[in-house]
Amino acid sequence: MEEYDYIFKLIIFGDGGVGKTTLTQRYLTGFFDKGSRLTIGVEFFVKTLEVADKKEKLQIWDFGGEERFRFLLPQYCRGTSGGIFVYDVTQELTFNHLTAWLEVVRANSRNIPLLLVGTKADLELKRKVMAEEAINIARANKMSGFAEVSAKTGQNVESVFKTITQLMVKRANPPA
Ligand code: GDP
Ligand code: MG
Repeated sequence: MEEYDYIFKLIIFGDGGVGKTTLTQRYLTGFFDKGSRLTIGVEFFVKTLEVADKKEKLQIWDFGGEERFRFLLPQYCRGTSGGIFVYDVTQELTFNHLTAWLEVVRANSRNIPLLLVGTKADLELKRKVMAEEAINIARANKMSGFAEVSAKTGQNVESVFKTITQLMVKRANPPA
């Protein structure tokens, strides 16, 4: 029998096509899966890790992001311990949609840690969103952190999941 100190539900959200599934797969398998297909509704993955001398089980909910499935978001937010909002650094619109996504997630979850994550950082020549701008937006929206990642090179992939897990552990153990 496996035992965990914590079981966390983590939701990955943001527009379709930004790289949510690819990022999740890179984290789970260590490989860049170019042939990723459209996520219908939501996909669910499990990963165990050890952070802060504790054993955590992450239930990762990869929310498709397609407009026609948005109505499902409120119910998928229930019981979430943390969230990662993903945008594509080469598509400004996916970044501009942050506040609309945040509104729904915050309205349907408790005060959870949320990270702002820009993907496809390997596509430097196509970049539209600057890191400085994203850091400011993350602060303005009271998010818990920001990082740029690449599922292709693996840049920051592990650390993003480690960071959100640390934040979820912290939130589960409020100071006395
Ligand atoms: P989702 O709809 O947010 O889940 O997006 P997908 O994970 O399906 O990715 C959409 C497209 O972006 C796919 O063609 C991926 O191969 C590509 N992609 C995802 N992450 C990266 C990345 O870090 N770098 C590059 N160059 N392409 C990526
Ligand atoms: Mg997907």
